[in-house]
Amino acid sequence: MKKSVKFCPNCGSLNIKWVNPQMWSIWKCWDCGYQGAVVLEDGEMADKIREKFLEKIKNEFADHEDKPGEENKEDEDKPGE
Ligand SMILES: [Zn+2]
Repeated sequence: MKKSVKFCPNCGSLNIKWVNPQMWSIWKCWDCGYQGAVVLEDGEMADKIREKFLEKIKNEFADHEDKPGEENKEDEDKPGE
């Protein structure tokens, strides 16, 4: 398994390309917007980064919603009109 695959070091995405062909040392990730000269070539590491990244996104979205672990306490002490 010797493929020269490049991964984004920020989110582990494969969707990473040169910013422009004349500056081929600078990469851009179209998934997270990362830009830089550093790219990952380790698929296993990329997998882990990807997992973490997706979890982070999920948590950021979840912030706006009710936490599943917390029951609706409001229901418990409803003031009987
Ligand atoms: Zn990325």
